[in-house]
Amino acid sequence: MKIKVHHGMCQGHARCYSLAPDIFQLDDSGYILPGDIAVPAGQETLAQRGARSCPERALEVAED
Ligand code: SF4
Repeated sequence: MKIKVHHGMCQGHARCYSLAPDIFQLDDSGYILPGDIAVPAGQETLAQRGARSCPERALEVAED
């Protein structure tokens, strides 16, 4: 499973990071880093929760 990051939609709320700091990494200004995120095995539920927490819908869950 992976998370597609729509970087231009990120508004820096950091909700994803506060739920799952090991999965969602932010830059110094609090915006998500660009590029798809490979979700480690066993962390799918947490990743889904983090993605759904984004009010800007910048995080899209995708099967790989
Ligand atoms: S929750 Fe959404 S808007 Fe906030 S940092 Fe994460 S990706 Fe960006």
